[in-house]
Amino acid sequence: MNTFEASYRNLHTTGELAQRVSAAQARQHACDLCGRSCGADRYVEPGSCRMRTRAWVSSYGPHHGEENPLRGSKGSGTIFFSSCNLRCCYCQNADISQKVSGMEVDAQELAAIMLSLQDKGCHNINFVSPSHVTAEILAALLIAAQLGLHLPLVWNTGGYDSMSSLTLLDGIIDIYMPDMKYADADIASRLSGITDYPRINQQAVREMHRQTGDLILDERGLAQRGLLIRHLILPGNLAGTAQIMRFLAEEISVDTYVNLMEQYRPCYQAHTQPPLDRTPTQQEFKRAHRDASAAGITRLDQRTSSLRFF
Ligand code: SF4
Repeated sequence: MNTFEASYRNLHTTGELAQRVSAAQARQHACDLCGRSCGADRYVEPGSCRMRTRAWVSSYGPHHGEENPLRGSKGSGTIFFSSCNLRCCYCQNADISQKVSGMEVDAQELAAIMLSLQDKGCHNINFVSPSHVTAEILAALLIAAQLGLHLPLVWNTGGYDSMSSLTLLDGIIDIYMPDMKYADADIASRLSGITDYPRINQQAVREMHRQTGDLILDERGLAQRGLLIRHLILPGNLAGTAQIMRFLAEEISVDTYVNLMEQYRPCYQAHTQPPLDRTPTQQEFKRAHRDASAAGITRLDQRTSSLRFF
């Protein structure tokens, strides 16, 4: 039994959670619920994310491959959503992110999935690629909270989140886990088909940290609340690691919990965009770790810190 009182329990009790659901659903008439702000009326036609007003779930279950503070001994309760608001040409999950597939779910069904993960003993509910289904998640959460959901929620996002969406999530999400993919807008546009990524991403990270602060772990080492950054090291320093680490250290906190991810492999259309057609070299991994260290970042994920080369 998790003794932590998840943030949304309070908002559910006061009726604020129900109001957030209505507000999120209203925004889908001219949608600005992710960084694209494409303005689609999702009650009439899909947005740029291919979504209307129902979420599609690709898979769900206890996940034991997430960061240690999330997986613990019983796993993180991951729910993988189909489609995405990004178009990364090297996507490692293109089979689910670049089309609509899996199982279309209504709010009742999505709530039942959340509760089933809690029943399995998972330590948290981990929404993977949730930005484009913010309203659908909130509607399901309202039902799940009524039925006793109490686990902390993880917003596991590509980091292209709008302020509209994050305002709706304030006091609901306990653990924000955004990617910081790029420091350069032109590279983001070329590789992920999005505009203004660094500005929108950094604004989102500031807001996430304002809402939840640095990552807090309980006595078991499990995440309870706060910010956890994922940064995928790309070949040719396409991710701009040094700039991103400096941003985190200087504008967020040197105690930001950072996972420097080393699992890049050429996937999907990566062969069309050299140097994405190769894995990063050992020298590039070393450089990324040095960049984090030089910026003053103090909390690297255990698995990445164990791979330090110096
Ligand atoms: S979530 Fe983003 S891409 Fe999807 S409809 Fe809304 S603004 Fe457009």
